[in-house]
Amino acid sequence: MTSSDPRRAVPAVGALLEAPLIRAMTATIPRTVLAEAARRVTDRARSDPRGMPSDDSAWASAVAAEADRLQLPTLRPLFNATGVVLHTNLGRAPLPAAAVAAIQRTAAGACNLEFDLGTGARGSRYTHCAALLCELTGAEDALVVNNCAAALVLALHTLARGCRVLVSRGELIEIGGSFRVPDIMAQSGVTIQEVGTTNRTHLDDYEIASAGDIAAIVKVHRSNFEMSGFVAEATLRDLAGLAQRHDIPLIHDFGSGLLLSLEPFGLAGEPTARDVVREGATITLMSGDKLLGGPQAGIMLGTRTAISTCRSNPLTRAFRVDRLTIAALSATLALYRDPARAVREVPTLAMATASPTSLRDRADALATRLAARGIPCSTVATTGSVGGGAFPSARLPSWAVALGGDANSMERKLRHGRTPVIGRIAGERVLIELRSIPVGSDAELADAVLYALSEHD
Ligand SMILES: *Cc1c(COP(=O)(O)O)cnc(C)c1O
Repeated sequence: MTSSDPRRAVPAVGALLEAPLIRAMTATIPRTVLAEAARRVTDRARSDPRGMPSDDSAWASAVAAEADRLQLPTLRPLFNATGVVLHTNLGRAPLPAAAVAAIQRTAAGACNLEFDLGTGARGSRYTHCAALLCELTGAEDALVVNNCAAALVLALHTLARGCRVLVSRGELIEIGGSFRVPDIMAQSGVTIQEVGTTNRTHLDDYEIASAGDIAAIVKVHRSNFEMSGFVAEATLRDLAGLAQRHDIPLIHDFGSGLLLSLEPFGLAGEPTARDVVREGATITLMSGDKLLGGPQAGIMLGTRTAISTCRSNPLTRAFRVDRLTIAALSATLALYRDPARAVREVPTLAMATASPTSLRDRADALATRLAARGIPCSTVATTGSVGGGAFPSARLPSWAVALGGDANSMERKLRHGRTPVIGRIAGERVLIELRSIPVGSDAELADAVLYALSEHD
């Protein structure tokens, strides 16, 4: 360091914290946060003296901005502008307003989570969604746990622990990085006996030699990919018959969990929960936060005996859901009593079924808004997808706003905004897809884009 070294002008952290403008901040910012912010600002000034604050007020602003950054929660709301309606990395299903209101009513106070208001005696948290689930799916009984993976573990552990179960080689699939059917099954204490081949499995492949030989048959819904060509599989109904003849359970991992047919909207090929329950599996498992459009949950639909055996497995305690999940799931399920209302008010369904014309209008309006503020952009026709392991080959005709400028730098700016906007890069442009933006939040989306792209610290 020479005598003219600008780094000499960097104040010590202790001195900076004593500056009146910064001391005043301790009224609203915790001291530990201010100290860390001051340390980072001075370190930065030392390593890059050209950007050094010029006076007391500039130092105070730099420390305040750094303190704001340090206090940002790690989990933050953002806009999913990827065009993928159910994006697992971006939190899957946005909740219906009714579910958000139910969470709000239930969150701050006490509730009858495990209390029977009729008798004044202890009740069970598992009663809350059961009746509604049975009404909507035709199942005899239902149990809600933490997620579909937990539901699969619980079903296998309860009904087949220590025994062999049959599953088709074509169904030993990966759902996402941390969920591989064979691994989850092994962790549940069962031994997998693979049957058939990758592309073809017939009913005769499910061999059961003698009583007590096999404890269960597992069928996994191929929800996130499709196989075509020379393929065959045993139907759910055939497997249910086979399981019944041998008096063993058929466990069906149904996954994405559609409650309502979307065929009128051009989304065909995915059965509803009511359809698959009718086929006769002993237990059907599905997620709460995929096509159902509710909170993260694992829904188990099944016979009275199978569900009550699962409910009394001590492992259920480890997978139990909290009162907020129950509140949100009940409110979401209640919307399905009126299917037209569900399509309107469950954001996942509304987004998946939105017409290309409505998306085009929204893209036009957003582009007009951005252009009026000097942001070069245009609208483009695109294709979206449902995501979340559902309707894997459905390509949804959609519309996006394409931003001008260097795609990588625009993508980064959007991601670093106050409310981040996660777009997608295609053809060297950043696209803001409207398909995956809940209806009614376009004005906030425009604000978020404008903020992210404006010049500020
Ligand atoms: C998504 C999915 C799961 C995992 O569900 P989570 O609720 O994320 O645990 C399991 N099986 C199938 C077939 C799925 O599609």
